[in-house]
Amino acid sequence: MVTLISVLFDRTLAILIGNANTMKVANYQSLALILPFLFLHLNAEAQNFEDVEIVTTQVSDHIYMLEGSGGNIGVCVGKDGPILIDDQYAPLSEKIKEAVRAITDLPVQFVINTHFHHDHSGGNEVFGETAHIIAHENARQRIIDYELDQVEQGNQSAVKPAALPTLVFNDDMTVYQNDMQIELIYITHAHTDGDVAVYFREENVIHMGDLYVQYGWPFVDMMKGGNVLGMVESLDHILSVIDGDTKIIPGHGKLATRSEMIAFNDMLRTVIARVRSAKQNGKSLEEILEMKPMEGYEDVEGDAASFLERVFLSLEM
Ligand SMILES: [Zn+2]
Ligand SMILES: [Zn+2]
Repeated sequence: MVTLISVLFDRTLAILIGNANTMKVANYQSLALILPFLFLHLNAEAQNFEDVEIVTTQVSDHIYMLEGSGGNIGVCVGKDGPILIDDQYAPLSEKIKEAVRAITDLPVQFVINTHFHHDHSGGNEVFGETAHIIAHENARQRIIDYELDQVEQGNQSAVKPAALPTLVFNDDMTVYQNDMQIELIYITHAHTDGDVAVYFREENVIHMGDLYVQYGWPFVDMMKGGNVLGMVESLDHILSVIDGDTKIIPGHGKLATRSEMIAFNDMLRTVIARVRSAKQNGKSLEEILEMKPMEGYEDVEGDAASFLERVFLSLEM
């Protein structure tokens, strides 16, 4: 139930941003229709934090996955202390700390943000008080923008300094901790413009952030530098780095395998190819929708029409 609410939140936000982004192809009425649902889900989210249970899964010798509400958390443990990959929402921080304490006595040393979205970085304001937060510089800037927006909307009185990443980088980065080589693979324009996949080479585990999700048609945040074509390119790149035994922690959903991620990428590629060819033949988005470019993928959950709009717009960039 909790996961459902979280996914609904993620998707509702996705739909809202998508429509704001694609006003020239969508109509304003749809935004009006969606707004009440957004607030409904935001409220549902706020009220349900106390019911959220953090579920821990051991992924490899030194890597665990925590599921609660929001993006999946990776936990890397070893002699230097735990490193979190994403930290969900601030009201869940105590529960997350408790789940980490059940694995190791050492305090959290670092948090790596896969990207800026609040369902992945909302816990920064708590963990950042005692741990270093690592993120791509674009993700840091977008967290600052988010904080300023919250102040402007009157949701908080000032920017929370602890929420901001303290260690930033502008290309790939490697962290040597816990006797491991932890590779942060920067992806320029995919889900946003500040995504990283976090690869634990020795453990053969990768945390994908929202570059790969298991809730169906993915959300691509085009307002924040995302691009569907970049998503496929980034998956191609990461598929060339990992192997058939790699355990994949998706941004949302259950642990996955390389073959599942290949199937996901093939699905995106197929839809892009269909839309590209129709577009080259001068078809409008409305006409392409009628041509059923999602044929064969009718069972995939999520907002297919909104994904299609993003494919259409990504091809124009
Ligand atoms: Zn997410
Ligand atoms: Zn996201």
